[in-house]
Amino acid sequence: MLMCRGLAEIASDYIDGELSHRQNLTVKMHLMMCNDCRTFIGNLRASNNLLSAHSSGRADEEFLRRIDERVSEALKTRPAGPNDSNDTPQS
Ligand SMILES: [Zn+2]
Repeated sequence: MLMCRGLAEIASDYIDGELSHRQNLTVKMHLMMCNDCRTFIGNLRASNNLLSAHSSGRADEEFLRRIDERVSEALKTRPAGPNDSNDTPQS
């Protein structure tokens, strides 16, 4: 009988469809009975989708560039305090 911990170990393979037919069946049986693992698999699958969406070439670059823009924009709009020049010494 597959336990929760065992399922967690093969969960990513299950999502990737890399388990054997028998392992796959065992996971499904467990998921039918175990609400916790259903949630776990659901979350894992969601974050997996997010990752693969961003790791495919151009989308990834654009994603990073957008973060870059956000950061530099946040730095620009940062209110300059009286001690601002001390924060960033120019050497
Ligand atoms: Zn479980």
